[in-house]
Amino acid sequence: MQKIAEFAEITPSADIRRDAHGWRAKCLQRLVRLDLPVPETVALPAQTVRSIAAGHPVDSKAILSHFGPIPLISVRPSPENPDWGGPGTVLNIGMNAAQHARLVDTNGREAADALYLRFVQTYATHVARLDPDMFDSGTPNADSLRDALRHYEREMEEPFPEDPAQQLSEVLRSMARAWEGTSARLLRQAKGAPVEAALGLVVQEMAQGIGQGISGSGVMQFIDPVTGLPLVKGRYLGQSQGRDALKKTEAIYLTRDKRGPSLEDIAPEIFADLIRHGAVCRQKLREEMQIEFTIEDGRLSVLDAVKVQRSARAGLKIAVALADDGVISREEAVLRVEPRALSELLHPQVDMRAARDVFAKGIAASPGAAVGRIVFSSQAAQASAARGEPCIMVRRETAPEDIRGMHAAVGVVTERGGVTSHAAVIARGLGVPCVVGASGMRLDPKEKRLIAADGRSFGEGDLITVDGTTGDVLAGAAEMLAPALDDAFRKLLSWADSFRDIGIRANADTPADAATARQFEAQGIGLCRTEHMFFDEDRLVVMREMIFADTSKDRAAALARLLPMQRADFVQLFEIMAGLPVCIRLFDPPLHEFLPHSREGLRELAEALDRPLSEVTRRAEALAEFNPMLGMRGVRLGVVLPEIYAMQAQAIFEAAVELARKGTPVVPEIMIPLVSAKREVELVKAHVDAIAASVRAKSGVAFDFKLGVMVETPRAALRAGEIAQHAAFLSFGTNDLTQMTYGLSRDDAGRFMNTYVQQGVFPEDPFHILDVDGVGELLLIGAERGRATRPDLTVSICGEHGGNPESIGFCRKAGFDYVSCSPYRVPLARLAAAHLALADRVDVRNITTIS
Ligand code: PEP
Ligand code: MG
Repeated sequence: MQKIAEFAEITPSADIRRDAHGWRAKCLQRLVRLDLPVPETVALPAQTVRSIAAGHPVDSKAILSHFGPIPLISVRPSPENPDWGGPGTVLNIGMNAAQHARLVDTNGREAADALYLRFVQTYATHVARLDPDMFDSGTPNADSLRDALRHYEREMEEPFPEDPAQQLSEVLRSMARAWEGTSARLLRQAKGAPVEAALGLVVQEMAQGIGQGISGSGVMQFIDPVTGLPLVKGRYLGQSQGRDALKKTEAIYLTRDKRGPSLEDIAPEIFADLIRHGAVCRQKLREEMQIEFTIEDGRLSVLDAVKVQRSARAGLKIAVALADDGVISREEAVLRVEPRALSELLHPQVDMRAARDVFAKGIAASPGAAVGRIVFSSQAAQASAARGEPCIMVRRETAPEDIRGMHAAVGVVTERGGVTSHAAVIARGLGVPCVVGASGMRLDPKEKRLIAADGRSFGEGDLITVDGTTGDVLAGAAEMLAPALDDAFRKLLSWADSFRDIGIRANADTPADAATARQFEAQGIGLCRTEHMFFDEDRLVVMREMIFADTSKDRAAALARLLPMQRADFVQLFEIMAGLPVCIRLFDPPLHEFLPHSREGLRELAEALDRPLSEVTRRAEALAEFNPMLGMRGVRLGVVLPEIYAMQAQAIFEAAVELARKGTPVVPEIMIPLVSAKREVELVKAHVDAIAASVRAKSGVAFDFKLGVMVETPRAALRAGEIAQHAAFLSFGTNDLTQMTYGLSRDDAGRFMNTYVQQGVFPEDPFHILDVDGVGELLLIGAERGRATRPDLTVSICGEHGGNPESIGFCRKAGFDYVSCSPYRVPLARLAAAHLALADRVDVRNITTIS
């Protein structure tokens, strides 16, 4: 490595490196290269600063020689990354009696006193470490200056240093040592700085914001940090220094403004210069920058330019605008937006600038935020929605029968559950903000009360806010920001689509889900969970009749009543998704989930079925299983009670016929859940093929379909070779596959998952982040064995992991055709897939950006 000088003047050709001199020094060099009026600056690399901290002072006189015979300078921190902070800037080094006298002549006594006092205050408190109260003198004038100098002399038992070289040495030493202090180190490490993070320093000629003619200081930027829209924003304060303009109320506007005077009014040429400098920075630094400037007697100086702090939505707008203007490439614009930041744009959010009254914390299960009144049941949620009153459904946990309530609610909170619990999965699908596993709060459903950990009690009708992005539940109505699905959002994602090389579909159960999937430009439906279609009031009754049927004929009769409803569901889905594939999963859950759980519900059912309560209760109990998730569900129902799948297949094919007659043919994909043996597939396939033949014969309409298998059991993954003989596609259901690979209940794991992760048993919750070692190995084995049998086998993933960037990376590497995720995760998945593809491209790997 090239030897670095002890310090270097920042010139266009000087050897200034970000890793050695820090971001500020590098940024200043860029400004110098752009010919901006940057005051004379000298950069000290980290190596020099370390050595100063270790007690080896630098030659201050040599540094000062760059700043003329009567130097007046500042020292600013320059770590490698601006987020790592650093010691505060020290202004006006070089102030002494002679300098003061000179400034009295040029700028007047008041200004000279103010500058000198400011330096004495900073030096006394930050360098000599004296008590700040002693130097907090109110108005700067000759008396307060004299007092400050006297206090200093008394406390230090020596006069305030007059020699600029001594002042500079002491300032450099104190800043270098402050960086090494324990609290500063902990603070920057919390912000992601490495242990060995070093500090550079820049010494800069003071460009005074104080003088006889137009003088002052300010900051200026050219976009709104929240919306990202072009807008000149900032403040200017006459006769001021540093960032005073941002702190003081007397600061004025930059652009002409009805409410008061502006920089544009008092100094139109300087204002125009600033606008020009801003445009140059944007063009050449390829970023929206905030400029810090001073004006001294009408002479403009640019002291610094930093990347504008911004919200996620502003970040996206800026990236797209820069690419549209040809400043950066589309690849770079796509890479500049973090996929996870998109969820902030899709949903309303709690405005982080406002106060937060958090009374419960849980797992952030579905992003976005909503304000509503508490309800404790599905019925209450529906009633509230019918009244047009937004409500938040609060439950211990949710079951399939709560879906209607969740549809009606604007947000959901549960006391129990993890990221793949029922509430979490459904809420994500619906795009409803949700917090699960808020175990600190207690529910008293009988009394209809929610008791927070701090003892506060909330009842039905009380207003709360769910923040599904952070996992917080807040009392009252928090301030909100609206979603931002605008042209820039669509444009960036269309660019992402042009770079990615893995398909993205959506898990969508209802027409509303499908419409969302379409809106977010999913490439089809990868999983339609059909059981959710049977929870509507009118269908539930027929469903229960079917469950209670004594004979196959009675069962078929009940199913015949469900057939037209199911067919209408599919027609609707196919229409919404016109031209795109729709993968329909046959019925999956245990039948017991469709029965009422309360005595009251059982009585109502007995009435509806016209049977004695005792018989209904006995039959319901007989259907209960010890381990329903490992019991009669999925394909096992399809084998034992084939009429259910027969009805569904018929409904799918008849819907396909209807679409073909309308001139928009579809190729439905039918997926068999919970398979563990080839024979299961053979049995279902025989039935499905027969039904297809019969619908074709009856309708006289030709249609195609694909039959595939959902790989959710370890055995199905291991036997994928033979299963693929009968399957056109394999889709890995990683929720069940994770559950069965670990032998870990997905509905109960939340209770101990935190402890497990904290103690390092699992690196992450495997229901949340795909376990690439174990479950991942099954995915690889399944895909490989399946493809060995059938090279054109379509392979995908449709568990909740499908929307995670890490899982998308895994599936892409394994050559999967697509991932399928909740509709609201589709944009994130599209962008993450593009990032992964771009990361493999050599030409974009070397893009460097300002941070
Ligand atoms: C799965 O098991 O991964 C899956 C997608 O199905 P479900 O969540 O409906 O069990
Ligand atoms: Mg499953």
